[in-house]
Amino acid sequence: MQTKEFKAESKRLLDMMINSIYTHKEIFLRELISNASDAIDKLYFKSLTDTSMGLGKDDFSIELAIDKDARTLTVSDNGIGMNEEELENNLGTIANSGSLKFKSENDLGDDVDIIGQFGVGFYSAFMVAKEVTVISKPYGSDKAWKWQSNGADGYTIEECEKDSFGTDIILKIKDNTDDEKYDEFLEQYRIQQLVKKYSDYIRFPIRMDVEHTHYSEDSEEPTKTVEHDTLNSMTPIWKKNKNELTEDDYNNFYTEKFMDYTPPIAHIHSRNEGLATYNALLYIPAKAPFDYYSKDYEKGLQLYSSGVMIMEKCADLLPDHFSFVRGLVDSEDLSLNISRELLQHDRQLKIIAKNVEKSIKNELLKLLKNDREKYEKFYEAFGLQFKYGIYSSYAQSRDVLEDLLMFPSSFEGKNVTLAEYVSRMKEDQQDIYYACGESIERIEKLPQLERVKDKGYEILYCTNDIDEFAIKMLIQYKEKKFKSISDADLDLETEEEKEETKKAAEENKDMFDFMAKALDGKVKAVRLSTKLKTHPVCLSADGPITIEMEKVLSSMPQNEGQDVSAAKTLELNASHPIFEKLKALYDTDKDKLTDYTKLLYSQARLIEGLSVEDPVEFANLICGLM
Ligand code: ADP
Repeated sequence: MQTKEFKAESKRLLDMMINSIYTHKEIFLRELISNASDAIDKLYFKSLTDTSMGLGKDDFSIELAIDKDARTLTVSDNGIGMNEEELENNLGTIANSGSLKFKSENDLGDDVDIIGQFGVGFYSAFMVAKEVTVISKPYGSDKAWKWQSNGADGYTIEECEKDSFGTDIILKIKDNTDDEKYDEFLEQYRIQQLVKKYSDYIRFPIRMDVEHTHYSEDSEEPTKTVEHDTLNSMTPIWKKNKNELTEDDYNNFYTEKFMDYTPPIAHIHSRNEGLATYNALLYIPAKAPFDYYSKDYEKGLQLYSSGVMIMEKCADLLPDHFSFVRGLVDSEDLSLNISRELLQHDRQLKIIAKNVEKSIKNELLKLLKNDREKYEKFYEAFGLQFKYGIYSSYAQSRDVLEDLLMFPSSFEGKNVTLAEYVSRMKEDQQDIYYACGESIERIEKLPQLERVKDKGYEILYCTNDIDEFAIKMLIQYKEKKFKSISDADLDLETEEEKEETKKAAEENKDMFDFMAKALDGKVKAVRLSTKLKTHPVCLSADGPITIEMEKVLSSMPQNEGQDVSAAKTLELNASHPIFEKLKALYDTDKDKLTDYTKLLYSQARLIEGLSVEDPVEFANLICGLM
């Protein structure tokens, strides 16, 4: 019989498995039982829609068997089974394993705890077994197949005999080494314990011959009996009562089900009756999965109909802004046979989705209120999603999201919510001020900031590309308008100051027009600033596109060659000594004024984080001065 090589990727995963650290090894049983349960699910699902098969839920089970002499542990199921081709494709290659893909794409070192981070499936058997034999007979077939491998040298497949449909996985357990005891996986108590720990909720009975010892008063010697026990409680965790469950139960289920080894930040377990009847168990993860911000990430909740899984990822149950939530919904109202297309239009599903959204929002608000530190950690991982949500929904999702938003602010340098900002607003303050820049340090150096700060107004710092886009969509929060400190019209002055500015503007109108002309269309106007204190110049934006948005938009490939620039105004500080100098030049040396204007404009661009349009000219002008 020909021995086949594993595909290269499979071989690498196998090596990782075989050399994995000890504490992870026990999860092999969970993985095999999950596979068995999935295989039964597939057949059970078929039987529900095809009664001619004559199979009911009670006909299915997962059987475990220990043979200490042969050093084998066998996991059997009467599920759908695999034919020759499926054995080859499913067990000969693991090219689709998310964990391995991640590892190769990111070229991590071997020390990365990949097994601890992700589920590894069937191959985990090689962590404890020196040889794995899979005997499988597909439902409805008269042929059975045997797949066998010791991990290292590849595998063989041959036809064999098997009475009933389903799959047996036979593990030949490794011998003990000096520091690793594999014998424990041949102990009844240990297997019982592992089933309870990881697979208790599996919906089909997991059975094993268990030796019971009985002590009686009449005889000295205890008697022993062997009973075929069911090891798992079989009630899915989401159908249990909350008060029966511990934090560990919830966390273990999460790890098991969603392959995330970092405990979740919060869970929501609810039973709803009314317009829609369903149980939901939702988790808010502590960190984003590796592919979260890539197009590969698929959002969705598992969808069950009366305990039977009908969809692995039901995207319609989760809005995009909560796409990080993992979990499941089990409803009695949904039909088993419903197609994906029909499901999308299902009224019940829509009601459930609305409720799910609401409960996630409430849970997050609760977290924000009760455990600020945890919320901030969560927000760091997923907060961007809220801003995208506001932007992409044209602020339709405002009610759900606005109170979950946070921004760093000038107030003690901490993250603040919009509600906190508004609650602290000064009596004379009309608007919510924000400033944009690539980092807090840079924002704090913006010349426009000074005046607003002087007024004692708090300023939100927007350091993410999406921030200002989201804010522009919101327009306001609780009737307070958002105002960028770079807006042309900040309206910060007193009536007196306004008069003065107006007068100075009129006096210098000719010079401003001259300067604007010197800049050759790059600015809409040159004028006196009302927000500068110590700096001589700044830029402000007039119109729908701000300077920060210009930066983001012009960096997007799809906008290449298009004009996405903000309409800019060059603002001058009348109380800066340079202003007097400019005035003098206007009367005596207009060429020099032209040069100075260009220099000041370039400076203002640099301060805003924009590049200088003509660096050579800029350098020449400076050299000229020197
Ligand atoms: P995963 O379960 O994540 O897909 P595995 O490596 O555990 O990855 O299994 C690969 C595939 O082999 C499964 O998707 C399934 O199609 C098949 N398989 C594994 N175990 C069984 C089983 N007991 N019965 C039927 N098919 C199985």
